[in-house]
Amino acid sequence: MITRLSLFLLLLALFVNFSLADEGMYPISDIHKLNLKAKGLKIDPNALYNPDGVSLIDAIVMVGGCTGSFVSSDGLILTNHHCAFGAAQAASTKENDYIANGFLAKTRAEEAQAIGYTVRITDSYRDVSREVLSAVTEGMDLAERTKAIDRKMKELAAEAEQQHPGKRAEVSEMFAGRTYVLFIYTYLRDVRMVYVPPRSIGEFGGETDNWIWPRHTGDFSFMRVYVAPDGSPADYSPTNVPYKPRKILKVQPAGVDEGDFVFLLGYPGRTNRHRTSHFMQYEEQYRMPYIANLYDWQIAVMKEMGEKDREVAIKHAARIKSLANVMKRFRGQLKGLDRLNLVEKKKLEEADLQRFIDSDPRRNEVYGTVLTEIGKVYEEITSRAESEIILDFLPSSSTMLSAAYRIYEASIERQKPDLERESAYMDRNFPRTKETMLRALADYHDETDRTFLRELLMQAGSLPMNQRVPAIGALLTTGNVERDIASFIDKAYPASKLNNEQYVLELLSTSKEELETINDPFLKLARALYPTYQALKETRQRREGALSKLSALLVDVKEQYLKTAFIPDANRTLRLTFGYIRGYNPADATYYSPITTLKGVIEKTTGEEPFDTPEKVINLANAKEYGRYKHPKLNDVPVAILYNTDTTGGNSGSPVINANGELVGVNFDRAWEATINDFAWSESYSRSIAVDIRYVLWVTEKVGEADHLLTEMGLK
Ligand code: ASP
Repeated sequence: MITRLSLFLLLLALFVNFSLADEGMYPISDIHKLNLKAKGLKIDPNALYNPDGVSLIDAIVMVGGCTGSFVSSDGLILTNHHCAFGAAQAASTKENDYIANGFLAKTRAEEAQAIGYTVRITDSYRDVSREVLSAVTEGMDLAERTKAIDRKMKELAAEAEQQHPGKRAEVSEMFAGRTYVLFIYTYLRDVRMVYVPPRSIGEFGGETDNWIWPRHTGDFSFMRVYVAPDGSPADYSPTNVPYKPRKILKVQPAGVDEGDFVFLLGYPGRTNRHRTSHFMQYEEQYRMPYIANLYDWQIAVMKEMGEKDREVAIKHAARIKSLANVMKRFRGQLKGLDRLNLVEKKKLEEADLQRFIDSDPRRNEVYGTVLTEIGKVYEEITSRAESEIILDFLPSSSTMLSAAYRIYEASIERQKPDLERESAYMDRNFPRTKETMLRALADYHDETDRTFLRELLMQAGSLPMNQRVPAIGALLTTGNVERDIASFIDKAYPASKLNNEQYVLELLSTSKEELETINDPFLKLARALYPTYQALKETRQRREGALSKLSALLVDVKEQYLKTAFIPDANRTLRLTFGYIRGYNPADATYYSPITTLKGVIEKTTGEEPFDTPEKVINLANAKEYGRYKHPKLNDVPVAILYNTDTTGGNSGSPVINANGELVGVNFDRAWEATINDFAWSESYSRSIAVDIRYVLWVTEKVGEADHLLTEMGLK
C-alpha cells in the first residue's frame, strides 16, 4: 500500500525530475543515456535519434555557421534572420536593399543565391580516439605531437571520404588529448534565400536589445537548399533542383506555454567549461577586453564611413553586425566573470582537486603536477599576450594585408602534400577560401581599410622593443612611429592592385618565386611578416601539445574526484539540450516572465531605428488581426519565448521542439546574464531566447503575405 509519505516522495521525485533542466549540450551518442521521457518527452526517444533509421536529427542542418531545420520536403530551411543576414547583404545594392526592405521570392525561380553558404547534415559518427592517439608517443616533442594529431585527423577524414564518395568527413576533438569522433556529413553547396523579413522586424531592437530579455525580435528567415538533378551535391546552377530531406520537422502553429518541456538540436560553437582558472584569467584580463575595445572602435569607424553613403553602409553592414554581437557578448561575459567571481571560484575548486590528488601517493605520481604545468603554459601566454593578440588582429583587420598574406601563404602551403597543408589550403577547402577572400574584396572600402591598418600598425609599432616584430620595425625608418606608419599607408594603398578580384585570383595560383619578384607593398609586408607568424604557429603548436596532454589528465582526475562522466565542450558538432519554458530573476525583486507579445513590439516602437516597426505590423496589431496565432491566455500573438536550456553561439537557428517532436520556436539568443554560459552554466541565470513559431507564421502570412510558404509547410 502506498503511504502518504511515499506518495509525497514519489510526487516530489517526479516534480524534481520534471522541473530541472541540466547543464549539458549532449552529443548525439549520449541521447539514449538521458531519461528524456522522465523529463517530459512524449515521443519515443528512437524517433528523436535512431542511428539505424530516420529520426529528427536528420532534419537538422548547419547553415552559414548557424543551425537550421528542414520544414518541407522540398528542402525549405527555417533559421534566423541574423543567419541569413550575410546572404541578404551580399545580394543588396542601394537600389535593391534587401537588408532594409527584406527579401521575398514569390516563386522558386526568384530565390536568390546565398553566396558563400553551405549546408551540412550529420549522417553518422564513429569514435576514433584510439586511431588518433596512436599517432603520438610518450616522449614526443610537443609541437610534433600537435602536428601528428592534426595529420592523423586529416588522414582519417580523407580515408572516410574515400569510403563514402560524395560525403564530407571531419574528425572533431571532443576532449583534447583524449576523445576524437569522426563525423560523416552530407554537404550541400547551393543555398538560396527564400524569405528574409525587413530589418525592422528581423532585427527589431538592434544592438540595444541584443543579448537582452524581454525581447521582441522576429529573428527568422527561410532558405532553401538545392542539389543537381540526380540528387548529388552541386555548386549553384539554375538547373539544380530542391534537395529532398530524409526527415522534416512538423511545424506546430499552436506553439508552447510557460512550463512546457522543450528540447533543441543544433550545432553549438564553443564553450570553455573544462578549462582552468588560468585560461579564464587570461581571457578576463587580456583577450576579451582587447577585442571588445578594438571592435567598439572599428564599429564606430564603419558607422561613420557609412553615414553619408548607403552603398558604403551596405558594404559594412554584415561586419558591423557580427563585431557588435561579439563585442556585446564579451562585455556581458566580462561582467559575468566579475559578478560571479569565477576565476576565484575556479581557483578554489582547483585547490580542492589538488588536495584530492595529493591525498593518494599513486594519484599524486600521475596527476600531481598537472595544474602547475597548465599554469606555466598560461604564464608564458600571458607574458606575450599583448604582442600576440595584436599580431592576431593585424592581418584580419585589413582586407588588403590579409589578401596579401593569404596569397603568399598559399604559394608555400599549396606546394606541400595535401594532408600537410594548413586546412584553408587543402584541396577540399581551397575553393571556399578563395570565395571568402572574394567576398571580403566585394565589401572593400578603401578609407576603412586604411584606418584599420594604420591603427593596428601603430599598435604593433608601439610595442616595447623586446616584443617588436622585425617586419614592423623595418617600417619605422625615422623613429617617429606615427609619421612612419602614415607614410607607409599613404604610399602603399595607391601602389597596390590587391583590391582587384581578378588580380587576386591570378596571384592565388602564382608560385612563391614569382610572387617575390612582384613589387607590391602589401605582398612585401606579408613576406616580411611570414617568419614571425610561422614562429608563432610553432610556439602555439608546442603550447597546444602541452595543454592537450595535460587537459586529458585533468579531465581524468576530475572525473575520479567528482565521480561523474563529463560532457564535452561545444565544438560545432551536433548536440541536444533540453529544458522548460521558464522566466527568471535577473536581480533582486525582479522577475521576467517567459513570453513576450505583439503588444510589447508596439510599446517599444519609437519610429526610429532600431525600433521602427513597419506600418503594416502596427495596423495589424491595432486591428487585433491575430488569426489563429493568438495565445489563449495572453490574448495576443506571442513574439519571443524564454527557456532554461544550455546553448551558445551556433545554436542560433536551432529549432525549439516540443514534447511531441514538433517545431515551436527558433532559437536566436541568450539573456544578458547567460552570456557567461560559455564559461559556466546555471539554472538560475542561464536562459535562451527564441522567436515563437506563432510570430514566425503571423509575420510570414500577414506581413510577408507569403502564403505559398505556409502551404508548403502543410499549414494551409
Ligand atoms: N545570438 C547568439 C549569437 O549570435 C546566439 C547565442 O550565442 O546564444 O551567437
